[in-house]
Amino acid sequence: MLVDSHCHLTYPPLADDVDAVIAEAAAAGVGKLLAISVRAEEFPVLCKLAEAHENVFISAGIHPNERGGAEPDVDELAEMARAPKVAAVGETGLDYFRNHGDLGWQRRRFDRHIAVAQAVGKPLVIHTRESMDDTLAVLEAAAQGGGLGAGGVMHCFTGDWAQARRALDIGFHLSFSGIVTFKNAAIVQEVARKAPSERILVETDAPFLAPAPHRGKPNRPAWVRHVAARLADLRGTDLEQIAEATTGNFHRLFTLAAD
Ligand SMILES: [Zn+2]
Ligand SMILES: [Zn+2]
Repeated sequence: MLVDSHCHLTYPPLADDVDAVIAEAAAAGVGKLLAISVRAEEFPVLCKLAEAHENVFISAGIHPNERGGAEPDVDELAEMARAPKVAAVGETGLDYFRNHGDLGWQRRRFDRHIAVAQAVGKPLVIHTRESMDDTLAVLEAAAQGGGLGAGGVMHCFTGDWAQARRALDIGFHLSFSGIVTFKNAAIVQEVARKAPSERILVETDAPFLAPAPHRGKPNRPAWVRHVAARLADLRGTDLEQIAEATTGNFHRLFTLAAD
Protein backbone atom coordinates (compact mmCIF):
# COMPACT_ATOMS: atom_id res chain seq x y z
CA MET A 1 0.00 0.00 0.00
CA LEU A 2 1.11 3.52 -0.84
CA VAL A 3 0.09 6.66 1.02
CA ASP A 4 -0.11 10.26 -0.14
CA SER A 5 1.49 12.21 2.69
CA HIS A 6 0.43 15.63 1.40
CA CYS A 7 -2.59 16.64 -0.67
CA HIS A 8 -5.19 19.41 -0.72
CA LEU A 9 -8.62 17.81 -1.01
CA THR A 10 -10.48 21.09 -0.43
CA TYR A 11 -9.10 22.62 -3.66
CA PRO A 12 -10.80 22.39 -7.04
CA PRO A 13 -11.02 20.21 -9.03
CA LEU A 14 -10.44 17.61 -6.27
CA ALA A 15 -13.09 19.18 -4.01
CA ASP A 16 -15.70 18.95 -6.78
CA ASP A 17 -15.83 15.16 -6.50
CA VAL A 18 -13.75 14.25 -3.51
CA ASP A 19 -15.39 10.85 -2.92
CA ALA A 20 -14.39 9.76 -6.43
CA VAL A 21 -10.86 11.12 -5.92
CA ILE A 22 -10.46 9.08 -2.72
CA ALA A 23 -11.96 5.96 -4.35
CA GLU A 24 -9.68 6.34 -7.38
CA ALA A 25 -6.67 6.58 -5.06
CA ALA A 26 -7.71 3.43 -3.19
CA ALA A 27 -8.16 1.56 -6.48
CA ALA A 28 -4.60 2.62 -7.43
CA GLY A 29 -3.27 1.16 -4.15
CA VAL A 30 -3.03 4.53 -2.38
CA GLY A 31 -4.69 3.54 0.84
CA LYS A 32 -4.29 6.59 3.08
CA LEU A 33 -4.25 10.33 2.44
CA LEU A 34 -3.06 13.18 4.61
CA ALA A 35 -5.17 16.19 3.64
CA ILE A 36 -3.31 19.37 4.50
CA SER A 37 -4.79 22.48 6.07
CA VAL A 38 -3.98 25.86 4.50
CA ARG A 39 -6.56 28.27 5.98
CA ALA A 40 -8.46 28.26 9.27
CA GLU A 41 -11.67 28.75 7.28
CA GLU A 42 -11.35 25.38 5.52
CA PHE A 43 -10.53 23.44 8.69
CA PRO A 44 -14.16 22.47 9.47
CA VAL A 45 -14.45 21.09 5.91
CA LEU A 46 -11.35 18.98 6.47
CA CYS A 47 -12.73 17.68 9.76
CA LYS A 48 -15.94 16.57 8.03
CA LEU A 49 -13.98 14.90 5.25
CA ALA A 50 -11.87 12.96 7.76
CA GLU A 51 -14.99 11.97 9.64
CA ALA A 52 -16.62 10.64 6.46
CA HIS A 53 -13.55 8.73 5.20
CA GLU A 54 -11.75 6.27 7.43
CA ASN A 55 -8.53 6.51 5.38
CA VAL A 56 -8.33 10.33 5.31
CA PHE A 57 -6.28 12.08 7.97
CA ILE A 58 -5.78 15.81 8.27
CA SER A 59 -3.40 18.48 9.52
CA ALA A 60 -4.16 21.69 11.39
CA GLY A 61 -2.39 24.88 10.42
CA ILE A 62 -2.17 28.08 8.38
CA HIS A 63 0.04 28.12 5.28
CA PRO A 64 2.85 30.72 5.28
CA ASN A 65 1.43 32.34 2.13
CA GLU A 66 -2.04 32.95 3.54
CA ARG A 67 -2.92 36.54 4.41
CA GLY A 68 -6.15 38.21 5.38
CA GLY A 69 -7.85 35.19 6.89
CA ALA A 70 -8.21 34.17 10.51
CA GLU A 71 -4.94 34.16 12.46
CA PRO A 72 -5.42 31.68 15.30
CA ASP A 73 -3.27 32.17 18.39
CA VAL A 74 -1.42 29.32 20.08
CA ASP A 75 -4.43 28.23 22.14
CA GLU A 76 -6.79 28.27 19.16
CA LEU A 77 -4.30 26.41 16.97
CA ALA A 78 -3.76 23.83 19.70
CA GLU A 79 -7.50 23.28 19.92
CA MET A 80 -7.63 22.66 16.17
CA ALA A 81 -4.62 20.34 16.43
CA ARG A 82 -6.37 18.25 19.08
CA ALA A 83 -9.41 17.59 16.89
CA PRO A 84 -10.11 13.97 15.87
CA LYS A 85 -7.95 12.59 13.04
CA VAL A 86 -5.49 15.49 13.10
CA ALA A 87 -2.18 13.70 12.55
CA ALA A 88 0.08 16.73 12.09
CA VAL A 89 0.56 20.47 12.56
CA GLY A 90 1.02 22.53 9.39
CA GLU A 91 1.65 23.19 6.70
CA THR A 92 3.86 25.87 8.16
CA GLY A 93 7.27 27.32 7.49
CA LEU A 94 8.67 30.22 5.47
CA ASP A 95 8.02 31.27 1.87
CA TYR A 96 10.07 34.06 0.27
CA PHE A 97 8.79 33.34 -3.23
CA ARG A 98 5.41 34.99 -2.81
CA ASN A 99 6.12 37.23 0.18
CA HIS A 100 8.48 40.18 0.45
CA GLY A 101 9.34 43.05 2.81
CA ASP A 102 8.95 42.67 6.55
CA LEU A 103 8.14 39.01 7.09
CA GLY A 104 8.01 39.16 10.88
CA TRP A 105 4.35 38.04 10.71
CA GLN A 106 5.35 34.89 8.79
CA ARG A 107 8.11 34.04 11.23
CA ARG A 108 5.81 34.57 14.24
CA ARG A 109 3.20 32.33 12.66
CA PHE A 110 5.85 29.64 12.11
CA ASP A 111 6.95 29.95 15.77
CA ARG A 112 3.35 29.50 16.92
CA HIS A 113 3.02 26.29 14.91
CA ILE A 114 6.25 24.92 16.38
CA ALA A 115 4.99 25.69 19.89
CA VAL A 116 1.66 23.98 19.15
CA ALA A 117 3.30 20.86 17.70
CA GLN A 118 5.31 20.55 20.88
CA ALA A 119 2.27 21.20 23.09
CA VAL A 120 0.08 18.58 21.41
CA GLY A 121 2.90 16.13 20.65
CA LYS A 122 2.26 15.94 16.90
CA PRO A 123 4.75 16.21 14.01
CA LEU A 124 5.22 19.30 11.83
CA VAL A 125 4.59 19.51 8.09
CA ILE A 126 7.08 22.09 6.81
CA HIS A 127 6.66 24.20 3.69
CA THR A 128 9.65 26.15 2.44
CA ARG A 129 10.20 28.02 -0.79
CA GLU A 130 13.33 30.09 -1.51
CA SER A 131 13.80 30.04 2.24
CA MET A 132 15.39 26.67 2.97
CA ASP A 133 18.37 27.85 5.01
CA ASP A 134 16.30 30.20 7.18
CA THR A 135 13.66 27.50 7.68
CA LEU A 136 16.30 24.97 8.71
CA ALA A 137 17.88 27.50 11.08
CA VAL A 138 14.53 28.02 12.84
CA LEU A 139 14.02 24.26 13.14
CA GLU A 140 17.60 23.65 14.33
CA ALA A 141 17.16 26.26 17.07
CA ALA A 142 13.88 24.64 18.11
CA ALA A 143 15.49 21.19 18.11
CA GLN A 144 18.34 22.45 20.31
CA GLY A 145 15.83 23.76 22.80
CA GLY A 146 14.16 20.33 22.86
CA GLY A 147 11.08 21.68 21.09
CA LEU A 148 10.70 19.24 18.21
CA GLY A 149 9.72 16.15 20.15
CA ALA A 150 7.41 14.61 17.56
CA GLY A 151 9.63 15.45 14.57
CA GLY A 152 8.28 16.36 11.18
CA VAL A 153 8.68 16.34 7.43
CA MET A 154 10.11 18.74 4.88
CA HIS A 155 7.25 18.47 2.42
CA CYS A 156 7.93 18.62 -1.33
CA PHE A 157 11.65 18.63 -0.65
CA THR A 158 13.64 20.48 -3.32
CA GLY A 159 16.86 21.33 -1.48
CA ASP A 160 20.36 20.01 -2.11
CA TRP A 161 22.12 17.21 -0.23
CA ALA A 162 23.75 19.57 2.31
CA GLN A 163 20.32 20.94 3.21
CA ALA A 164 18.83 17.45 3.28
CA ARG A 165 21.59 16.42 5.68
CA ARG A 166 20.66 19.28 8.04
CA ALA A 167 16.99 18.22 8.02
CA LEU A 168 17.95 14.59 8.65
CA ASP A 169 20.27 15.63 11.49
CA ILE A 170 17.37 17.13 13.43
CA GLY A 171 15.39 13.92 12.91
CA PHE A 172 13.17 15.15 10.09
CA HIS A 173 11.83 13.19 7.14
CA LEU A 174 12.07 14.23 3.48
CA SER A 175 8.97 13.98 1.31
CA PHE A 176 9.35 13.72 -2.45
CA SER A 177 6.73 15.04 -4.84
CA GLY A 178 6.18 14.98 -8.61
CA ILE A 179 9.20 17.28 -8.96
CA VAL A 180 11.44 14.21 -8.63
CA THR A 181 9.98 12.94 -11.94
CA PHE A 182 10.90 16.12 -13.85
CA LYS A 183 13.83 15.98 -16.26
CA ASN A 184 15.52 19.11 -14.88
CA ALA A 185 15.46 17.98 -11.26
CA ALA A 186 19.03 16.65 -10.91
CA ILE A 187 19.61 18.17 -7.45
CA VAL A 188 16.54 16.68 -5.81
CA GLN A 189 17.11 13.40 -7.65
CA GLU A 190 20.54 13.20 -6.04
CA VAL A 191 18.87 13.65 -2.64
CA ALA A 192 16.29 11.00 -3.55
CA ARG A 193 19.13 8.56 -4.29
CA LYS A 194 21.07 9.25 -1.09
CA ALA A 195 18.35 9.72 1.55
CA PRO A 196 18.14 6.92 4.13
CA SER A 197 15.19 4.64 3.44
CA GLU A 198 13.83 5.11 6.96
CA ARG A 199 13.33 8.86 6.38
CA ILE A 200 11.63 9.09 2.98
CA LEU A 201 8.00 9.85 2.23
CA VAL A 202 6.02 10.36 -0.96
CA GLU A 203 3.35 12.92 -1.71
CA THR A 204 1.47 14.55 -4.55
CA ASP A 205 0.72 18.07 -3.21
CA ALA A 206 -2.37 17.57 -5.41
CA PRO A 207 -3.92 19.40 -7.18
CA PHE A 208 -0.46 20.93 -7.80
CA LEU A 209 2.78 19.48 -9.19
CA ALA A 210 1.45 16.60 -11.29
CA PRO A 211 4.23 14.08 -11.93
CA ALA A 212 5.40 12.96 -15.35
CA PRO A 213 3.68 11.72 -17.53
CA HIS A 214 0.78 13.94 -16.37
CA ARG A 215 2.79 17.13 -15.91
CA GLY A 216 0.66 20.26 -16.33
CA LYS A 217 -2.65 18.58 -15.46
CA PRO A 218 -4.42 18.94 -12.10
CA ASN A 219 -2.71 16.40 -9.86
CA ARG A 220 -4.54 13.58 -8.04
CA PRO A 221 -3.57 11.45 -5.02
CA ALA A 222 -3.66 8.28 -7.19
CA TRP A 223 -0.65 9.64 -9.07
CA VAL A 224 1.65 9.37 -6.04
CA ARG A 225 2.37 6.02 -7.69
CA HIS A 226 4.45 7.83 -10.35
CA VAL A 227 6.49 9.55 -7.66
CA ALA A 228 7.13 6.24 -5.90
CA ALA A 229 8.04 4.53 -9.18
CA ARG A 230 10.61 7.24 -10.00
CA LEU A 231 12.04 6.94 -6.51
CA ALA A 232 12.37 3.19 -7.06
CA ASP A 233 14.26 3.82 -10.35
CA LEU A 234 16.59 6.34 -8.74
CA ARG A 235 17.34 4.06 -5.79
CA GLY A 236 17.71 0.89 -7.85
CA THR A 237 14.83 -0.89 -6.17
CA ASP A 238 11.20 -1.69 -6.97
CA LEU A 239 7.89 -0.02 -6.30
CA GLU A 240 6.97 -2.58 -3.65
CA GLN A 241 10.05 -1.77 -1.56
CA ILE A 242 9.41 1.96 -1.85
CA ALA A 243 5.77 1.49 -0.86
CA GLU A 244 6.77 -0.57 2.16
CA ALA A 245 9.41 1.94 3.28
CA THR A 246 7.40 5.13 2.73
CA THR A 247 4.19 3.75 4.22
CA GLY A 248 6.06 2.40 7.24
CA ASN A 249 7.73 5.78 7.72
CA PHE A 250 4.37 7.53 7.35
CA HIS A 251 2.90 5.39 10.12
CA ARG A 252 5.87 5.92 12.43
CA LEU A 253 5.84 9.70 11.91
CA PHE A 254 2.09 10.32 11.83
CA THR A 255 1.30 7.88 14.61
CA LEU A 256 -2.37 8.85 14.70
CA ALA A 257 -2.73 7.50 11.14
CA ALA A 258 -1.09 4.18 11.99
CA ASP A 259 -4.19 2.18 12.96
ZN1 LIG B 1 3.56 23.55 0.57
ZN1 LIG C 1 0.65 21.85 0.33
